[in-house]
Amino acid sequence: MEKINFKKKYGQNFLSDTNLLKAIVSDSLITPEDEVLEIGAGAGALTQELAKSAKKVVSFEIDKSLENILFEKLNSYNNVELIFSDILNIKTQEIDNLFQNNYKIVANLPYYITSPIIFKFLEESKKLDSMTIMVQKEVAEKMLAKPRTSSYGVLTVMVNYYADVKITRTVKKQMFTPMPKVDSAIVYLKLKQKPFDKEFKRFIQTAFSMRRKTLLNNLLKLYKKEDIESVFNKLNISLNTRAEELSVTEFETLYNSFRQK
Ligand code: SAM
Repeated sequence: MEKINFKKKYGQNFLSDTNLLKAIVSDSLITPEDEVLEIGAGAGALTQELAKSAKKVVSFEIDKSLENILFEKLNSYNNVELIFSDILNIKTQEIDNLFQNNYKIVANLPYYITSPIIFKFLEESKKLDSMTIMVQKEVAEKMLAKPRTSSYGVLTVMVNYYADVKITRTVKKQMFTPMPKVDSAIVYLKLKQKPFDKEFKRFIQTAFSMRRKTLLNNLLKLYKKEDIESVFNKLNISLNTRAEELSVTEFETLYNSFRQK
């Protein structure tokens, strides 16, 4: 195999351990009928395992210099399509159109764009079934954070609003080449198939905009004080409450009450 010049700017931390690659595929619950989207083919190690298990794999890779390595590795699979492009520059609808049915994302994500990728697909895809993604452990912990902790925030609420979330395993940093600074985890998100609501996102971002302020104070950017007080009273929420104290369900109830006003 050609020598690889790993590019840090693209978040290139590759996997090669076959047991781990198979475990990721198993966590993703893909079957031979499934169509899969991979983000960041790298040297094709995960792509190859996915190709063995799925009906079809579409894999995006931003780094064109990996082309020869990938062609060599994946040459014998006729169910893989490689697209050399920045996935964030492709409209989500165009990506949806690459698949016949609902598809599953399985990816060892480039860490520098973890959140933009998660939001892009959670919010915009009309055909996404689930995501099985390798993320930094700290990000996984944010996704599963409990209210009243410092990790609990916009990412937690948004991800749990759109999906059922669980960590399927943690992965030591030694499993990657080159080795990153921190450990990782694999997160499985099963989409609840809710339509995207731009206003809900704005509501949550505003609620958490100044963490040291009360929720009421932050929401003054969106609503009149007397309206906030009346909704809080109706729902028995104390006026001193901070955003991080409300659960995802409580946020949904609160948001719906403002909409009904
Ligand atoms: N799947 C491989 C593996 O597990 O060994 C590589 C994973 S590596 C963490 C992430 C890959 O995503 C890199 O190959 C990187 O070049 C690619 N990448 C980074 N930014 C990208 C983008 N915007 N669009 C598509 N691929 C990207």
